[in-house]
Amino acid sequence: MKWEYGGKYGRSKSRRRWFLGGILVAIILIVGCIFFCFGFFDFMPVLKRPSLKSLHVLVGGGIKESSGSKFLMNTFVSIRAAGTSPDEPIQAAFDEMQRIESLMSRHIPGSDVFRINQGAGGRPVKISDETFHVIWESIKYADITGGAFDISIGPLMDVWNFGATDPSVPEPEQINQARSLVGWELIELNSEDVTVRLPLHGMSIDLGGVAKGYAAQEGARVLREHGISHALIDVGGNIVTIGSRPDGEAWQIGIRDPRGKSIENTIGPTLYVSDCAIATSGDYERFFIYAGKRYHHILHPETGMPADTVQSVTVIAKDSLYADILSTAVFVMGPDKGMDLIEALDGVSAMIVTGSGDTLFSAEFGEAS
Ligand code: ADP
Ligand code: MG
Repeated sequence: MKWEYGGKYGRSKSRRRWFLGGILVAIILIVGCIFFCFGFFDFMPVLKRPSLKSLHVLVGGGIKESSGSKFLMNTFVSIRAAGTSPDEPIQAAFDEMQRIESLMSRHIPGSDVFRINQGAGGRPVKISDETFHVIWESIKYADITGGAFDISIGPLMDVWNFGATDPSVPEPEQINQARSLVGWELIELNSEDVTVRLPLHGMSIDLGGVAKGYAAQEGARVLREHGISHALIDVGGNIVTIGSRPDGEAWQIGIRDPRGKSIENTIGPTLYVSDCAIATSGDYERFFIYAGKRYHHILHPETGMPADTVQSVTVIAKDSLYADILSTAVFVMGPDKGMDLIEALDGVSAMIVTGSGDTLFSAEFGEAS
């Protein structure tokens, strides 16, 4: 009886063990097979805290994440993208940005901007529709910002020569001479012929405050055309995000503290974003210190001197071209006028780090975008 009971009990217990063990082995086999087949281990680094949703999206789609970086437009460009085979789209986006550089750099012989500047004082210069569009929008914003954003800044950038190994403060006469050649109202645009003319010999256009933002959004367009729906492009502080992170969470963006010791030191709130553009202009990008004073590469077109009322400006917008223009423009305008402009425009928000290191926020800054 005891045995019978024991035997019965023992049999049913061992059967249950076998049953449970079998289920466990089946689960391990199925999950292992799914991970193996869809390359789970490839995107493992991205999934720091995988949620069920992200697992579904990623495993079900066979999605991998890749990243790459390059030195383009005089800055570091990085791309992270997730897709079934993201390497080719990433390369296509880099190629696109390189193409834009070859049109809009003023230092590359034969570029649209190079030819416009070479022709200063002469006849109108025929250029690509794309460069014309970027110049057109820049002029529009020169008007909106009361001339704070001025792509005719070229002669002043030349006398400051921030790229030199040993830059120095130019003499006042040099600055005055350069200032006499700066003035966006002088630029002649012909949209029918797609030409630009600089009327004075020595004038020059510099798209350094806008071309990186344009390149970032065009790189993103190419990624989208290649079917990428999760990506982050960073062109020297001009960030464009496509969709969310591959794990379904928002992208997290920290804003660099202008006086922080390393790039890791951030200031203000962490931004949680998807499908948007963020641009930061800072006085820490290209600068030198002379007699205890910082001289940097964002110039006030009226004085010819570095704009000195803020340390950095971050602008969030739908469009990276405008985020880039506005971050430079607000930097020049300063905290009061700059913030008034941001509040007056639709769909943009900003954070300003003032000259004394305080942070100012526009009404909608930091809200999920
Ligand atoms: P970064 O190039 O560091 O991303 P910005 O977007 O603010 O920063 O652009 C700064 C560049 O813009 C300068 O290197 C120069 O080429 C150009 N620039 C400087 N001052 C002005 C200005 N007042 N208006 C338009 N462009 C400017
Ligand atoms: Mg800019």
